[in-house]
Amino acid sequence: MSTLALTRSDFSDKFANIQSYITPAALDLINRSETLKEAVRRYQDDDKTADAVLDTSKEPNAATHRPRREGSGNEDFITVGKDTLGNSIDLVRVLSHELGHHAVEGIDGIVTNGRNLAAAGRNFDALVDSCLLSEGYAALATARVAKELLDRGLTGADQF
Ligand SMILES: [Zn+2]
Repeated sequence: MSTLALTRSDFSDKFANIQSYITPAALDLINRSETLKEAVRRYQDDDKTADAVLDTSKEPNAATHRPRREGSGNEDFITVGKDTLGNSIDLVRVLSHELGHHAVEGIDGIVTNGRNLAAAGRNFDALVDSCLLSEGYAALATARVAKELLDRGLTGADQF
């Protein structure tokens, strides 16, 4: 079963800073992946996320997920370097990775909760492990999206 396709207007609000990069070609790819559509909707609907940031100068070649710190009152958010959005495949790869972090570090995210416990207990090995676990989940999210694109007719998903 597939959910409704996303449209460009689904990238207003929290994705407004990168909306201009959501081309028809990018939307076509995004809409072939239930995992990515769900990740976009989850980020939009999470009341503990802030607007995605388009980084045009500091680190235009990098993308990050900035987790919310317990007790800080801050929201979590992703930053996307403009040079990572050069084509639709790159855009899908970067979004799936950073939103993959959000899936486990967003509200009540299992990695967030584990990291907070590790930090509170000053267990630095566990703290490092929680960071690596988040990277693993993000890489897995991108692999899932690549598989869904391959299953829906994209060739050359090895570019991921
Ligand atoms: Zn990562």
